[in-house]
Amino acid sequence: MRAAFQTGPRVDCQEIGARVLGDLIAKPIRGERVLDNLETLARFGSTDRGGMDRPVFSPQYRTAIDWLASEMRAIGMTVRLDPAGNLIGRLGPAAGPAILSGSHIDTVPGGGIYDGMLGVVGSLEVARCLSDVAPTMSCAYEVVAFADEEGAYISLLGARAMFAELLQDEVLAATGRDGTPLVDVMRAFGLPPEKIPDAARSPDDILAFIELHIEQGPILETEGIEIGIVENIVGLQNSHLTFHGQPNHAGTTPHHLRADAFHAACLAVSEAFCIVEQQCGPDVRLTFGDCEILPGASNVVPGEVRLTQEIRAATGAEILRIGDTVLECANSVSARIGVSVTTRVISDDAPATMSPIVIDAVAQACDQVGVRSKRMPSGAGHDSQQISKHVPTGMIFVPSRQGLSHNPDEFTQPRHIKLGIQVLCNTVVSLINASS
Ligand SMILES: [Zn+2]
Repeated sequence: MRAAFQTGPRVDCQEIGARVLGDLIAKPIRGERVLDNLETLARFGSTDRGGMDRPVFSPQYRTAIDWLASEMRAIGMTVRLDPAGNLIGRLGPAAGPAILSGSHIDTVPGGGIYDGMLGVVGSLEVARCLSDVAPTMSCAYEVVAFADEEGAYISLLGARAMFAELLQDEVLAATGRDGTPLVDVMRAFGLPPEKIPDAARSPDDILAFIELHIEQGPILETEGIEIGIVENIVGLQNSHLTFHGQPNHAGTTPHHLRADAFHAACLAVSEAFCIVEQQCGPDVRLTFGDCEILPGASNVVPGEVRLTQEIRAATGAEILRIGDTVLECANSVSARIGVSVTTRVISDDAPATMSPIVIDAVAQACDQVGVRSKRMPSGAGHDSQQISKHVPTGMIFVPSRQGLSHNPDEFTQPRHIKLGIQVLCNTVVSLINASS
């Protein structure tokens, strides 16, 4: 089997399904059907500018959810839209614990057709494979499309609601890009927002969650590896870093008498990057993604510079250390130039650790399927980061061409899609077997 993967451009998933999964799987994975499903989903919210625009609770999201629900029903799944807008299809025992698999089908503006969709469509394909043996399964299998992963209103809304982590004030205050309140949009979608707490489930009812996703980065493609086994999802801290100087005439104020906020910001950022690149591991990310210079005139020495600062790292301690490093650089540079610095944390998401049990199940599945795999962190946020706080969780990555995502050119080779779903299927089967 292994040689067939490494030498042939085509992968016969039917053969893999039949041989690896033995008597539990009655039907093989059909890669072409998965590609068809991705193309169908791509029609609901494609834009003239290229790419997708399908925020949660939009009309095009409704069409996509309806289509997905009908596909679930067609294979005998019990389907429900929970009060937070998570679409859940269930196969196997009507009561008792379940193995969950899924992702999201909402997109960013100008997004691609694989981010999130692959995990949902792949989980659906696994359900199709399991449908004939559902009556003999020792626990249920659920496919979930989580609401608002991309944060059109509240990032990870559905995954957070599933474990009672959404605050009522947060729901009441949330608005979309055009200022429309979330509560109005949910009501129009047929979901009374006051019912969101009813979406909460007991973690005891969920044995494990497994999410197949595109990598959204260049590592797997660059290294020629077919599957990434995610060990952790990095934490993410967003801050505002502001340099306060003194605006003055750009022609009459000599450099040594300026309190130039932009000069201080440039030096501080440059020093911070040097330190981070020399002292931190390869998985750390420091980004100043937005910059506002005030008053913003070509003939005025900048009096204030506002930077957004984003730090991602695998541990909370490392995030703190990088934040301290930046602030030390900013303070020492600013003192020299006669500028002051303030910082304010806007959001702080802790890193998430994947379950060793699920990681081992994915690794074993990779061996069964015969793919090259690599254990790695996820630099992007996912529904899994929320769910892993409550139940054993794992993620399977497949390569993204040129590392592109949140981009109309997002692409994953059909061969990698099939392999990813095969690994997902084997993982789900081994988790179901382990539950008996
Ligand atoms: Zn995603």
